[in-house]
Parts: sequence; structure tokens; C-alpha cells
Amino acid sequence: MKPPPQSLSKTSTKKTAAAKVPISPEDKQIVRDMLATNRFGTFFGVSQKVLDSVWQALSAPTGESVTYISMEIGADLDVFHPVRNKLQQLAITEHPDETINRFLQLFLQGPVKIPNYSGGLGILAGDTLKSFADCKIPVVGVSLLYRKGYFSQMVDSKIGQIAWASEWEPEKTPGLYLLQDPESPTQPLTIKIPFYDLKGTQSVACAHLWLKMEINETLDFFVPEILLDYQTPESPLWIQDAAQHLYDSSSEKVKATQRRLLGLGVIPAMEALGITSRTIHLNEQHGVGVVLSLITQLLEKKHGSKYENKATDHHILTAAAEVAKRLVFTIHTPVIAGHDRFHTSVYEDLINPFCKRVLNLLALDEHNHSVYNFTSMAMKLNRATNSVSRLHKEVTQKQFPQYADKITAITNGVHHLTWTSDAKAELYDTFPELHNWRRDPSVFAGAEALHRNKKFRTYFEQAWRTDTKTLVDYVNRMLITHRNQRLATWIDPPNYLSYRSGGEAPLKHTTFTLGFARRFSTYKRADLIFEDLDRLAAMITENNWPVNFIYAGKAHPSDEPGQDLIRNVLAVQEELYVKSNGLAKLVFIPGYDMHLAKMMVAGSHAWLNSPKRPLEASGTSGMKAAMNGVPNVSIMDGWWVEGYHDGRTGWKFGYEESVSSEHFSEQPSALLYNEDSASFYTVFPEMLRLFYDPALHDQYIDKSIANLTLNCPIFNTHRMAAEYVARYDLNLTPAVQREMVKFRKLYCSDPSF
Ligand SMILES: *Cc1c(COP(=O)(O)O)cnc(C)c1O
Repeated sequence: MKPPPQSLSKTSTKKTAAAKVPISPEDKQIVRDMLATNRFGTFFGVSQKVLDSVWQALSAPTGESVTYISMEIGADLDVFHPVRNKLQQLAITEHPDETINRFLQLFLQGPVKIPNYSGGLGILAGDTLKSFADCKIPVVGVSLLYRKGYFSQMVDSKIGQIAWASEWEPEKTPGLYLLQDPESPTQPLTIKIPFYDLKGTQSVACAHLWLKMEINETLDFFVPEILLDYQTPESPLWIQDAAQHLYDSSSEKVKATQRRLLGLGVIPAMEALGITSRTIHLNEQHGVGVVLSLITQLLEKKHGSKYENKATDHHILTAAAEVAKRLVFTIHTPVIAGHDRFHTSVYEDLINPFCKRVLNLLALDEHNHSVYNFTSMAMKLNRATNSVSRLHKEVTQKQFPQYADKITAITNGVHHLTWTSDAKAELYDTFPELHNWRRDPSVFAGAEALHRNKKFRTYFEQAWRTDTKTLVDYVNRMLITHRNQRLATWIDPPNYLSYRSGGEAPLKHTTFTLGFARRFSTYKRADLIFEDLDRLAAMITENNWPVNFIYAGKAHPSDEPGQDLIRNVLAVQEELYVKSNGLAKLVFIPGYDMHLAKMMVAGSHAWLNSPKRPLEASGTSGMKAAMNGVPNVSIMDGWWVEGYHDGRTGWKFGYEESVSSEHFSEQPSALLYNEDSASFYTVFPEMLRLFYDPALHDQYIDKSIANLTLNCPIFNTHRMAAEYVARYDLNLTPAVQREMVKFRKLYCSDPSF
């Protein structure tokens, strides 16, 4: 029932009458040129030329590309959506071509969230792939598609966190495409992977392949992500169940199955698409199962189809050494729960006898032969291993002394275009000193002069006020919504301030606002600064300095201690409010995601991080704050050791001496709550004084601008991507190579590399 094209274009002129200018044929052509097709489908956002050249690079016989494997990828469209930006800039809302029109509607109005991430690891993957796209490095990402997402969070004042399945529809999400089978284009492209059920009989897991495009801001390059969707009618039910939720840990078998769905899907997916990458990058060890496919391939080539009988242990180990040359491994955490170890008995039900032989040779834990240790296996089988900060390198070397020599550091970064708020982006666009900042985060390094530029300082504070107002307005609306919802649902508003009636907006945007948001996990110590409420309240009442404490974060549904932390934060709200005579307002925002993160890092006046050193590895939300010139106050852990610059960019507190293995414990007795909170109470009054005392306020802004100019050039994913590229050993075009060299000059994470 489609109207004829003419009538469509007529309505379009009518509807856009307010804009007055009719859409030019040139603009229509620009949109038409955003449609491209290949054997696997029709895609929107890049030209045919761009699609073809990226595909050619990924399928070149020389293998000069990288396959990047990650259990999760965070790249929500409500924080970075270059195709929609382009369409909005063109002000085209309809198009006479029916296919294009469908894409237009989808990109302009479609959903903007893809809830397939849980936290830092996934966000880092998304940011990294976006920078590869910006820098035109031929990379393809591989991950799983989770139809029930990670989980959605509601919070009740008494129960604490309530988790339920996330609702989202890949079919309706812009930039996501179900790939078609070139042999029969009405059918989805499907890969088949042998699995074993509980009784040890073979069954076949079938995945449909989805493609998400990470398109760069100039729409002239993209990084495809292949998302394996095992929730297909052809897959056995137990496989479908195991594939629904990211990090489902309902049983060890489900956990192990998820990892295998990722690792064993990689090579079949690459083959189905003709992708030839020589280098395979493991973003954490979850996908290390890929080595089983690679080893099998080599042995089959050498010994033919009877390889299972013919290959000796020596052959297997030789093949493994060969495979290792293709792998680059990034380890992300020293926390033991983050290292996959599964009982060998679990694998009785998942793999065939030959795979078991391979795992017994390569994955047995050296201290406990009844478990496979996949972090050790990933450590063993690669040509380069990196940690995610300098301190984390030391820690990783202590945890894996036998591999100490090959462990280097590549400190994490964030995608600066994703994490800079609109108000700050507009500010950066305005100043010639920051010309080209969108393409080149190094320009901030040359912007020292901005410190003394009165106009910049004024506009900078103005943009910041806009961001704080956005955040505070959001919180105030939320407090009222929760109060109203109470009548309609059985959920009690989580925030004490929702219960306080009265018409006035509870929070003010002129109030000093401290932000904290991340996964709620024991070592992150979300409730650290509330250890001594009397002391905290006293420093606030002493000078009548009001403070907003704004918190957010999810705890994994099976992490009980993590959920206790949320309850602890809720539990102190009223007492803190009363003890501070209503000056301290502590608010918890449910449903932490990328959009909230962006609003919080830009709108806060300082960004807090209070982990138990040295368990943070890197941490990235503080870098997002830096992109907005928001100073950090943090334990000397992860990236902050490198970003602190002797106090020019923010504040430090807590234990900061040398680390040894006894510090790796997450036991409550080892978490140093007393010591580190006391240390926080010594820096907090100084922060408030600099912020509130008009004679000192300039110093506050000095720190903020320094955080921008000193840390943006370092902690961005362009620089990080350039350091990875050095480990990949790729043959790049001279232009791309020059860019990589330029970004590498910004910082050297590991002087010993
Ligand atoms: C950045 C981000 C994280 C990671 O923050 P850390 O400081 O590294 O813990 C987690 N979740 C979301 C939604 C984020 O945007």
C-alpha cells in the first residue's frame, strides 16, 4: 500500500515547509549515494565505493587486516550516530526512492540502543572499532548478538536492584543488517557449528550473521562488526537459551557454552564472508576457542581428514605454536573472577575427544588439573600480550611470571567524538586553536595558550553549566517520575529525595556535583566515601557548601556483594541529608548505560573513582570526563597513575605504595575502607574550597582545562589504536601509516616496547 513516489515527494515539501528551502537535487543525490550493496545485502550510510574498498581490504589474499574478537561491544547510537547527523544536517526526511526512504525513516526515528554490553570491556571494544574506522584501518569485529541483552535495571528502595531482560529488536535497529546467503538471497547467511549435548551426542548450533557498521564521521570508511545470533530455530534449545543473555552465569555449563559460541563461530563466519585477516586480536580471553579451529585447520591441511588419529601431541603443539603467531591478546583485569576457569568435567558435554586432547595439552591449569584456565591459554598462545595501563602491566607480570617478558602495556583510551558532549563539541569547534579536533585529538596538546584565553575560559564554563543543567534537570524529573510511579507500580522510589514532597526542584545545577558511575563490583567500592557520614557531613556544613552526589551503575544479577553495594548507597541517603542539614543530596540513577554515562561525565564537576588499588586495571569513565574538561578525583590506580600529572589535572587519594600479590585480594578485610576513605576526607574540603571560594575558583578551572589539554591527547582510542597497529604488523598505505606514526608520538604507553 505504498503511495506513488511523486506524492511522497510532494508531502515532503509540504511537511518541511517550515524549513522553507526545498531539498536540492544534489542533497537527494547525496542520500542516494549512501546506499550500497554486495552479495550479502544492502547497506546504508556509505557509498558503493567505500563498501567495495573496505570489503576488498578485508578479503585480500594477503590477509592485511585484523579480526577483533570481543564478548561484548558497546556502541549505542544515542551517543554516536554519524549517519543520522548527516541526514539531519541535510534536513532530508523523505526520499522518492522507496528503499532509501525506508532507511531514512529507520535512521531518523529508529531505536538508538543495542544493549549488548555490560561495562568497560564492551565500551572499549566499541570505542576501539570506531577509532579504527576513523583511522581507516581494515578491521572486522566479531561478537555475539544477545536478544535479551545484558539486563535492564530497576531499583527499589528496599529490595535494591531488580533485573529483567532488556527489550530490543535487532530487526528495527538502524545500522544492523541480517546478512543474506549469496547462494539464495532470500535466506539468511547461516553458519553451522558442531556441539555436544549433555549426553555427549552431537548436535549442530546454527547462527545467523548480523552486520553492524561502525561508520566514521566523514562516512568514508567503516568497520563491520559480525554479530553471531544463535537464537535461531535450527539451533538446539539449550544453545538458544545459552545465547540469550550476555554473561549468563546460571551454570558453569552455560558460561562455558557462551564462550564456545563466540570462539568457535569466528572462523566459520570469516569463511562465510571471505574475510582473510592474518591477525586475530582477542579482546580478553573469552573468544580464545578460536585457536581450536585454527589448530584443526592446520592439522587437517597437514594430515588430511584423518588428522584426529594421525596427529601426535607434538604435531598439536607445533600447530599451536604456528597459530600463536597470528594472535594478539589484551588482558583486561587482575580480578580472578574475570579469568575464565571451568572444570574439565563441564567440557565432557561440550567437545569431542580430539578437542579434549588439545585442551589437555594447552589449557590445563598448572595448579589444578581438574580445571581449564583460559586466561593462561590465551597468555600462552599469542605473539603479543598487552595489559591496559602501566600499573596493570606490573600486576599482570606478577600474576603470570612465566610470561612476564612478553607482557607490555597499551593504556586504554576512549573515542573522543563519542564522549564529548554537544555543548563542549560546539565550544571546541569555535576556537581556532582546536581546529580539526574531531579528526585529530592531538590538537589539545598544543592548546596550552587556551589556559590564559579569557574568552575560552568564559565559554568553557558556560558549556559546562549547560551540561550540568542537563544532568540535574534529568535527575529532578526522575525524582518526580519515581514518586508518581509509586502509585501505579509496586516499585518504591529508590531515592530518599523522591519521598520529600514540596514543589521545589530538589537539586540545583549551581551546586557542586560529584559523579560516580560504573559496574557495582566489590573492588570498585562504590560506597567508600560514605564510610564516615559524620565526617563527610561536617565538611559540608562547616562552610555551608552544598553537594550533589550522583551515582549510577549495575551489579551483575548473580553478584550478591555487588548488589549490596547499591543497597548501601541507598541506605545512607537520608542520614547524609539530615546530618548535613539538607546540603548533601545523594541520588542513585537506575539503568546506567552509555547515554547516562555521557550525561554524567560531562555534567559533573568532578568525577570520582574509588577502587581498591591495583584492581582497576585501567578504568575509562574518568577519561570520558577528561574529554569534557571535568577533573578527576581518584585512587592512584589504572590510568590515573598516568593521567594525574602531579595534581595538575585533579586530585588523588588513598593507598599508593608498591603493589604485591597480597593486594590482589577482594576479601572484605583487604579492601582498606578505613584508610582510603579517611584519605578522601582530607582532599574533599580542598576541592570544595577551590570550587566555591571566588578567590580560588580560577584554580579549579585551571585543573579542568589542564585535564583536557594534558589528557585528551593521551587517553583517546586513536592513540591506542595506533599502538595496537604497531603490534599487528600490518602493511598500511603511506597516508594511513603517517597518521599512525603521528598518533603514536602522542604517548608511549610502554617505553620498554
Ligand atoms: C565507560 C563506561 C563504563 C566503564 O567505566 P569504568 O570507569 O571503566 O568502570 C561502564 N559502563 C558504561 C555504560 C560506560 O559508559
